[in-house]
Amino acid sequence: MRVHHLNCGSMHPPATVEVVCHVLLCETPDGLVLVDSGLGRQDFADPRRMGVARFLMRPDRDDAKTAIGQVEARGFTAADVQHIVLTHMDFDHIGGIADFPEATVHTTADEYDRAVLNPDFASRQRYSQRQWAHEPRIRTHAGPGELWKHDLHGVEVLPGITYLPMPGHTKGHAAVAVETSDRGLLIHAGDAVFDASLYTPSSPSGASLAKIRILRGFERLMAVDRKRLDDNHATLRRLNGEAGVTVFNAHDKRILDDLIGR
Ligand SMILES: [Zn+2]
Repeated sequence: MRVHHLNCGSMHPPATVEVVCHVLLCETPDGLVLVDSGLGRQDFADPRRMGVARFLMRPDRDDAKTAIGQVEARGFTAADVQHIVLTHMDFDHIGGIADFPEATVHTTADEYDRAVLNPDFASRQRYSQRQWAHEPRIRTHAGPGELWKHDLHGVEVLPGITYLPMPGHTKGHAAVAVETSDRGLLIHAGDAVFDASLYTPSSPSGASLAKIRILRGFERLMAVDRKRLDDNHATLRRLNGEAGVTVFNAHDKRILDDLIGR
């Protein structure tokens, strides 16, 4: 399948760099698939949908950056997007789903349980129920799945698209592996790492990456299970070192700019 790297939301948390919402648009034989959805038109029309986290993350209001805006700019329609595969259900990953009401939305069973079915107090503050109030068709995937590749377990979501469970940032967070026809195996790590320099010394084109300390601190602050973070970073580092594998995360602008420019 062919893929496109999109920025579906720029955010400006205080005292650090701009962060992006890295979304993958996949052209599959069965229609378009999004991996994550960034922020959507309805979030900008009614910012309360983004919950209190919007005050911290300070997103730009920019309809052109939404997934629907970029899908339409490529000559497609919302109905062409058949599936949306979420790394997790935080507001900056799920906001765009409302712009694709006919798509099936995929998440892990653990994430759906914590965000929707059995939220605890912290989850009720963290997740924004308004963003799924349109009652999307949701398909959940229980992990850890079968032994997949690279000594990892995975759960097949769609042909060529696999969940690699990586809890830590949230209870049901998962990376998403996408097998492409021309760019090898892509791993969308979501929020399993914030500062890309934790898993790679350089961007895909070879530019060296400086440490971004404040993003590292922010990652730890937002995690529900900090003990898992280092293991996830080590897994991503190992994967990124394998031939034909490219790892990227949701929020590091340096990696997104590099991949868009290729
Ligand atoms: Zn995020």
